[in-house]
Amino acid sequence: MIIQKTENSRLASFDPQNFSFGNTFIDHMIICEYENGKWGDVRLLPYGPLPFTPAMMGVNYGQACFEGMKAYKDKDGKVFLFRPEKNFERINKSAKRLAMPEVTEEMFMEGLKALVNIDRDWVPQGEGNSLYIRPLIFATEEALKARVANKYMFAIVATPAKSYYAEPVAVKISDHYSRAASGGVGSAKAAGNYAASFYPTQLAMEEGYDQIIWTDDATHEYFEESGTMNVFVRIDDTIYTPPTSEKILDGVTRDSFLNLAARKGITAKVEPVPVKKVIEAHKNGTLKEVWGVGTAVVTTVFKALGYNGEKLELPLLPDNESFAAQLKKDLVDLQTNISEDPFGWRVLVEKEVFEKA
Ligand SMILES: *Cc1c(COP(=O)(O)O)cnc(C)c1O
Repeated sequence: MIIQKTENSRLASFDPQNFSFGNTFIDHMIICEYENGKWGDVRLLPYGPLPFTPAMMGVNYGQACFEGMKAYKDKDGKVFLFRPEKNFERINKSAKRLAMPEVTEEMFMEGLKALVNIDRDWVPQGEGNSLYIRPLIFATEEALKARVANKYMFAIVATPAKSYYAEPVAVKISDHYSRAASGGVGSAKAAGNYAASFYPTQLAMEEGYDQIIWTDDATHEYFEESGTMNVFVRIDDTIYTPPTSEKILDGVTRDSFLNLAARKGITAKVEPVPVKKVIEAHKNGTLKEVWGVGTAVVTTVFKALGYNGEKLELPLLPDNESFAAQLKKDLVDLQTNISEDPFGWRVLVEKEVFEKA
C-alpha cells in the first residue's frame, strides 16, 4: 500500500457535537485504479477531488456500485468494524452483475483497516455514534461507446455519523412504481437503483408519506423492501421478512436481526409477505409493528401505512414491548462492544503506525 498522509488535518475543526452527516469527510481516502485487466497499488491519500471528464463511462452508463458500513468506538477507544466480510462479498456480487472487475479481499480489507486506523480519531465515541464508510467501484474510462469499460476506480471514503435515532415514518405501499424487477439489478447495490427510487419517493412525499414500501413489480401484492432498507412485519408475536432474491437486497442488518431474534427466542419467518395479510392483520388488531432495517440508522419504525388511498395508523409500542427496539438494542450493544459477541461479528481495527511516505 502506498501511504501519503495529509499535512493539513481538518480534525481540529471537527466538532463531534455539531456536524452534519454525509458531507463532513475524514482526512484520508483509499483509491485503487484498474487498467489493462488488473488492479494497481492501493493508495491511501489525503481526501479530496480527483480529475474526471464528463465523458467518464461511469456517469454515462451507470457502471457504479457501492457499499455502506460502519466503524464503532467503544468506551476505551477501541475501534471495531462490523461483519466487513459481508460487505466485501456483496460489493463483488454487485460488481459482477454490472460487468465490473471484482476487488480482491486484500484490497478491500487492508484498505478499509488502514483508512479507519489512520483516521481513528475521527470515529465519534458515545451511544449511537459511528463512522459511516463508503467503499465504491465505478467506471472511469473516457469513452462514449456503450460497452463495458476498461478502466475503473475502487475508492473508500468515510463520514462521521451521529445517533441512530430516527423519527417514526409514514410509508406508502407502492401500487405502481417498482424498485427492482425480475432479471434486474435489485440485489446489487447499484448506484442507479437509488436514482430510480427518488422520483417515486418524491411523489409519495407529496401525498404526505416519508418513504415507499416497495412491492413486487408483477402484481404489487407482496412486500419487498422499504425505502433503502429491508422490511420486517410483526403479526402477534411472530416476525416476518421476505426471502432475499434477485429483487431484494441481502442486507447485513436484516441477517443480523434474524440471528439475534433466533437467539432471543423470537419466532422469525422468512417467507413472502402478502400486502393483504398485513392489511388483514391491521384490521383485526394483530399487526403489532412494521419496521425497516439497514446500516445507516439500524431501524426505522413505521407509524402509518398508505394503502389504496387510505392511511392506516400503526400503534407505537414502548421499547420494552417492541421487538424492533429490543433487537436494535441487542445489535447496537454488540456493534459497540457493550455486549458479548457470540457470533464473532466484531473485527478490531488494530493500531498500526505508518511510516511517512
Ligand atoms: C444497503 C441496502 C439495504 C440494507 O443493507 P445493510 O447491509 O443492512 O445496510 C437494504 N436495501 C437496499 C435496497 C439497500 O441498498
